[in-house]
Amino acid sequence: MTDLICIVCPKGCRLKVDEENGYAVTGHSCQKGVVYGKKELTNPTRVLTSTVRIVGASLPRLPVKTNKDIPKGKITNAMKLLNDVTMQAPVKIGDVVLGNILGLGVDFVATKTIGKMYFL
Ligand code: SF4
Repeated sequence: MTDLICIVCPKGCRLKVDEENGYAVTGHSCQKGVVYGKKELTNPTRVLTSTVRIVGASLPRLPVKTNKDIPKGKITNAMKLLNDVTMQAPVKIGDVVLGNILGLGVDFVATKTIGKMYFL
């Protein structure tokens, strides 16, 4: 039996997942907790959020996220890829910052529109 806190919503239900009984989940308040509890023990994944450098903008960093979940075991390597990325303003929300990361078919995309900074 494994104890987990559901992270799908702010309620944070305390789940128990029984690995010896088909990953049966108890302690949930909704069906999303059942799906999360089973997945967390069989194939844990996360959407990653971070930032990358941007030049020609009024802000030094551009917020980004993956457009799908990636396996938890790939998070460190995916984050390292962002160290080599520098975007050029302007950037629109949803623009691909880095495509097909680690061959997973998942992209890092911009989560903010940042315009070009003009100097007077
Ligand atoms: S089980 Fe449902 S209500 Fe409870 S934290 Fe998860 S998503 Fe929220």
